This record gives sequence, C-alpha cells and structure tokens, in this order.
Amino acid sequence: MLENTTEDSSEKTGEGANSSSTAPAGDSRRRRDSQPGLWMQCDGCSRMVYKPRVEEKLNVCPECNFHFEISSADRIRMCIDPGTFEELFTGLIPLDPLGFRAVKAYKDRLVETQRRTGLKDACVVGTGKIERIPVVFGVSDSRFLRGSMGSVVGEKICRGVEHARDHRLPFVFVSGSGGGARMDEGILSLMQMAKTSAALAEFDKRGLLFISVLTNPTMGGAMASFAALGDVVLAEPKALIGFAGPNVIRETIKADIPAGFQTSEFLLEHGFLDRIVNREDLRATIAYFLRMFVPRSS
Ligand SMILES: [Zn+2]
Repeated sequence: MLENTTEDSSEKTGEGANSSSTAPAGDSRRRRDSQPGLWMQCDGCSRMVYKPRVEEKLNVCPECNFHFEISSADRIRMCIDPGTFEELFTGLIPLDPLGFRAVKAYKDRLVETQRRTGLKDACVVGTGKIERIPVVFGVSDSRFLRGSMGSVVGEKICRGVEHARDHRLPFVFVSGSGGGARMDEGILSLMQMAKTSAALAEFDKRGLLFISVLTNPTMGGAMASFAALGDVVLAEPKALIGFAGPNVIRETIKADIPAGFQTSEFLLEHGFLDRIVNREDLRATIAYFLRMFVPRSS
C-alpha cells in the first residue's frame, strides 16, 4: 500500500524520479520515503505530494500553490518577528450558556478540542512586531471548531482592537474561519458580528489601520463582519472566501453560480480584495502596508 503510494506520487509529482525509487543508494532512502505520513494528498490538485517538501514551503503545495491550513502558532511564527509576540487575554475561556447539544454536547466538543489543540478557543491575540513595527496581531485557528466565532473569539477580537486603539497601534488579523459564527452559542455567537464590527468602526474613526488577511477558508459570520472590514484586505491564493456555501446559494437562488465564485482570485477581480499574497511573501507584504500607512515616530 505504502509502496504503491510512493511510486504513484513519484510519477505524478515528477520529483520522485531522482529523489526516491530510482536513486542508486536507494534502499535506505526508499525506506524513509515510504514511511507512513511522508506523502499527503493535495486538496487543490489531488496529487500526492511529499510532505517535507510541502512543509519546507510553509505548507504550500509545490505542484499547484494550494495553501494548506496552518495552526495559529505557525502563523504567528511566520508573521511576527521572533521573540516579540506576547499573547493577551489568555484568561478568556468559552462557556456553554445554552447547554447546546447537536450530535455531541458542545461542552464535550470544547473539552476534546482544547485537549487536541492546546488552545482555549479558536483565536489568539497579542502584541508583537512585524519587521520591527509594533502591532496588535490576531489569528483564528481552523483546527478549533473550524475557527468559528463564539463569544470568546468575538471578545478577543474586540479587546485586541481596543488595545490597538488605546496604544495607537495597527491591528492585523489573519482569519482562518470556515465555521463562521459558532451556532452552538446561538444568538450570543451572532452578536459577535455586530460587536466586532462596532469595535472596528470606532477604531476606524480614530484613523487607525486594520489589515485583514483572509485564508482558506473564511466564511459565514466571520466574513460577514470583521474579516471584510479591513482598510487593506489581503488573501492567500485559492482561498475559499464567502458567506453561505456555493450549494446553499445555488439552491436558494435557483441559478448557476459563476466559475471560480468565492475564491480569492474571483474576489480580487471583482474589487473585494486589495491583493493576493503567497504565504512566503505575507510578512513582507503586511510590513509594506504598515510602512505605507503608519506614521513613523523616528
Ligand atoms: Zn496541489
């Protein structure tokens, strides 16, 4: 099974021809390449790709440039100057005010997800520097209930925006929120849309800068509120970005939707994004816009 996988992917990627099965000193190398977990299927092009190569490219497919989801910790490492990130609002933890139960009880899903991810909820906010420019930086983590926005996520975003306002810092938020609003918290989750939007409107009145970065996927209540409100809106390539999913829209309006609908590329073409940025260029691009808009004190 593993042998097949390896050979199959060598053919498809073209990389294996000189890196695995036919290498002269091949036995040990082949054994290593055949280890479980070294190959993965790309969600973008469906090819089997060599995982270490994907990781080396910051979790981007070397074949089709599909950007895989990454953890909040990786995102912080990638965007923020080393050693400068200080997390804020770490005491906020989610509750289960409705005693909600779908297939599983919400409180059990929370405990299980917290244990699996090491996070208390789907969002991390803190202060840090990007190319030596101080910012308030936040990121939603799609591993935690699809990055959905419950009360804690909304509250952390608001407090982050307020912290940025009080210290006159730019606010940068990277959304990876396929879950939109977190329905397990019902109206309390939906309220976060208005709450985060109001905090950003207040922030905007002070003439401060919000850079919103959209990653795959950013949907639902997140996209219908704070994520769409950046002064500068950037996105990673080929990200799914929208409100309702394409199937829901198709069924609702009873019409076909255009090709490429709800992708970064479609949104850029229709004026909704300012720029599509490859992950390896993200930090430098955010810094470019920070330097453009933020007055330097020195
Ligand atoms: Zn791919």
